[in-house]
Amino acid sequence: MIKPSSIALTLIGLLALSACAPSPQSLGAADAVSVAATDASNKAADHDTRPPHIKEYMTQPAMLVFSKTRSFRHDEGIAGADRFFAEMATERSMGLFTTVNGAVFNPEQLARFSLVIFNNATGDTLSPEQEGALQQWVEAGGGLIAVHGSGDASHTDWPWYDNDMIGPEFIGHPAAPQFQEARLVNLSPDHPVMAGLPSEWQQTEEWYSFDDASKIGDARILIGIDEDSYSPRNDVYGDVKDLRMGGGPKGHPIAWLRCSGKGRFFYSAIGHSFKAYDVPQNRKLLSNAIDWATRKTSSPQDNC
Ligand SMILES: [Zn+2]
Repeated sequence: MIKPSSIALTLIGLLALSACAPSPQSLGAADAVSVAATDASNKAADHDTRPPHIKEYMTQPAMLVFSKTRSFRHDEGIAGADRFFAEMATERSMGLFTTVNGAVFNPEQLARFSLVIFNNATGDTLSPEQEGALQQWVEAGGGLIAVHGSGDASHTDWPWYDNDMIGPEFIGHPAAPQFQEARLVNLSPDHPVMAGLPSEWQQTEEWYSFDDASKIGDARILIGIDEDSYSPRNDVYGDVKDLRMGGGPKGHPIAWLRCSGKGRFFYSAIGHSFKAYDVPQNRKLLSNAIDWATRKTSSPQDNC
């Protein structure tokens, strides 16, 4: 008799093999087993396969908050953002579903939402099918908001998200001190996502740096940081010590947005700590981003 666990292992093995460079025919039985075991622990086994149960009656429109991590986990930031987005859903009478189950990204369940939040989601959290379902949903008119860790360098397995949505690659943040006050500059005062925000302000955060601002492509930069207002260095760990991007605030973007097909994408590098979601300017920014991503507001320059 075949045990259910061996069926699962075989399935996982087949999935793992299909994603591997060597073809199954080129592997002996022992190789196949070891590849399956390695990949099962690193890849397929950590991609969810059973979608979550979502209650039948959910207030519409609804937001889906996703906080799965397979790389760095921001426990405080995730908790702060979970609370914040729940408050935003209540204020707007929106339905809310929070999950770490990547199998929620299937066409049937995505169709029940107007907005997806990547709450510090890190690492290879989704299978290729789940990634494809989310991309298709965005391009058809969905709204996707990603905060802080969701824009770190752990998403390279997913080119559409990593290159086309985020764009610039994360290279590090200051480590000593990790949190610094810096001057932020409003670079899109006419865009509705910046409504009610001043032309510049001071804010404390773990400030991200990226490799190349030009990779942002046709995105609209909302906020840039003044690199002379804090110490953009990391002398504690990693290869990149000098975190300056140069080019003034425009050369070091902190928040930006773009269209993808008919859909709307917003990213903010702010949001490491629980307290970040109490900062009035950050609350305003994210609240505006929700309204823009769900099409309550628009700019004449938006092409989506
Ligand atoms: Zn962080």
